[in-house]
Amino acid sequence: MAATDSPRQEIDRLDREIVALLARRMDAVRRVGRLKQADGTAAVRDDAREHEVSRAWAAAAQEHGLPGWFATRVLDEILGHSRRVQEGSTGLSEDAAPDAAVQVAIQGGPRSFSDLALDQVLAGHGGEPERLYLDSFTAALDAVESGRAQHALLPIENTIAGSLNAVYRLLGERSVTIQAEEVLPIAHCLAGHPDAGLDDVRRVLSHPVALQQCQRFLGQLTDCTAESRSDTARAAEAVSQSGRRDLAAICSEPCARFLGLHILRRDIADSRRNATRFVLVGTAPAPADHARPGRTSLMLTVDNRQGSLARCLEAFAHRRLNLSKLESRRCPGDTGEYLFYLDVDAWADTDAMQAALAEVRGYTNDFRLLGTYPRGGEAATALPRPAVAEVRLATVAPAKPAPVSTRERAVVPIGPVSVGGGGFVLIAGPCAVESRQQVLAAAAMARDAGALVLRGGAFKPRTSPHAFQGLGFAGLDLLARAGRAYDLPIVTEVLRTEDVERVAAVADCLQVGARNMQNFALLKKLGTLDRPVLLKRGLSASIDDLVAAAEHILAGGNRRVILCERGIRTFETATRSTLDVSAVPALRERTNLPVIVDPSHAAGRRELVVPLALAAVAAGADGLMVELHPDPAAALCDGPQALTVADLAELRVGIAAQMNAREQALAARAG
Ligand code: PEP
Ligand code: MN
Repeated sequence: MAATDSPRQEIDRLDREIVALLARRMDAVRRVGRLKQADGTAAVRDDAREHEVSRAWAAAAQEHGLPGWFATRVLDEILGHSRRVQEGSTGLSEDAAPDAAVQVAIQGGPRSFSDLALDQVLAGHGGEPERLYLDSFTAALDAVESGRAQHALLPIENTIAGSLNAVYRLLGERSVTIQAEEVLPIAHCLAGHPDAGLDDVRRVLSHPVALQQCQRFLGQLTDCTAESRSDTARAAEAVSQSGRRDLAAICSEPCARFLGLHILRRDIADSRRNATRFVLVGTAPAPADHARPGRTSLMLTVDNRQGSLARCLEAFAHRRLNLSKLESRRCPGDTGEYLFYLDVDAWADTDAMQAALAEVRGYTNDFRLLGTYPRGGEAATALPRPAVAEVRLATVAPAKPAPVSTRERAVVPIGPVSVGGGGFVLIAGPCAVESRQQVLAAAAMARDAGALVLRGGAFKPRTSPHAFQGLGFAGLDLLARAGRAYDLPIVTEVLRTEDVERVAAVADCLQVGARNMQNFALLKKLGTLDRPVLLKRGLSASIDDLVAAAEHILAGGNRRVILCERGIRTFETATRSTLDVSAVPALRERTNLPVIVDPSHAAGRRELVVPLALAAVAAGADGLMVELHPDPAAALCDGPQALTVADLAELRVGIAAQMNAREQALAARAG
């Protein structure tokens, strides 16, 4: 600190240094990106390297007396941005030299959400284009068609408000094509005069969609009316220029700060899962880059007759093409036609897509290809997730998976299987590994039930010292063999810090049992690994205790943590523990880690396991872990709660139905 610096001045100076260092770091990231590109085979995302960096940050933070979890959270943001930069191709005119004049048109003013989304798009581009702030979507597309702008960036759907029909309609009519997509998490705040308090506000201005998204909050304000403006930034500008205390605007925080407005309340949207998907459009299609996952957007109309949509969907389904969006609208007029918006997760020029598109054209009255482009943001780099179709009833048409997500949800790999991020993972296996035959038979049951991961205890934490304590490393070896035999990655509990490395050398995922949730030495050790950890909630642990326990692992630099609700101690004796279903949404609200549920240890009796499992799926769990046994009566551990082949069949059908209901609910909410 210079002798004359006040603490505030010191903060300002340090902030400038931090930003300058970030810019230098980003330069280095770009250089690495170019090397990866030259190499041609290197993927943008390098998990091992990210893990190393994360550990180094956590260690350095601790050296300086900072909490490791805080440092790694900051790092997460930096790594996310770096990946974007390295992914490079954003759809923006690549042929133009970075500093050549490129114009991008948006609907809205500076710091509107479209403008913030453009910042995000530009992260991978380098140069700064000229931004045309226009009043309407039509004006933005006019600018592109007349050549005044090379691109327009338009919002196309929102998690709360659904698809923007006006934009879809325009895309169908104009000679433009989608070149890229971007998902922007939306956080609304109420901003007002620097001297105003919440009680002063009588009129709230904003974009109609923003007003709609904050209805609950607005309903709590007394004597206050809402008024529409063309966009959130212009609403904020009007408040700023008025100098009045009774006016406030709903806008983004950067916008409020930019205009010097006072933030009266943060996070005022009815739902925190608020994100908007934007598309970048231009007159020429984006070059298909098959090194990245592609997406194709379509708009089509079919007659309102039984089976006409099903035929179209079947054309994609039987070629194993995944639909990531399906929305319908009744066509205006009395033609009896329905209009559908579809996104298919593939480039349009692949053989499967070409065949599917040719077939679909034959069934539709009107067919528009809106664009084929690289899948945007984190979705593009996330590990491939197991298809939900694994457990879906064959008779049910493919439904819409989760629409745009707000905060990026973590995806944790267990071997080749991804947990979180919208898919659903069943983990199944015996409570304890008892013998070679038992674990092989159990693995076969698990696989036949649609499980993607095999569980089994080699080290058993038993409440009584007289109960079977597990076969130890010999059991782990048997579990690993069974996993290999049935092509299932394995998860097993580790009890002691000193065993961690040996168990990690064999198991794909390490489980921390309920009785060890607050074994901090064990958690700390697991934090140094790059193996995923399945952390179970303690018998008497609150949700916050579980989150804090997870942070012990994250603080060490290991970000691969899956949380597991498994029932808690209550006064109730009808069940072994009480399954806290509310833990699922509550944990998903507090963290972005995947959340799974173990209904077996909560129920204690097999009759209750399937109903509890289905409640967990309905509540939004990313997966389930259940116990099974080829001969429950002979089980050495937890026989009464072990599922049989018949129970597993019931579970499988139930999961499929629940997943479909969940997806339909999401689709309905988005539509
Ligand atoms: C287990 O899953 O094997 C187990 C012992 O469960 P919990 O730690 O939840 O009791
Ligand atoms: Mn058990």
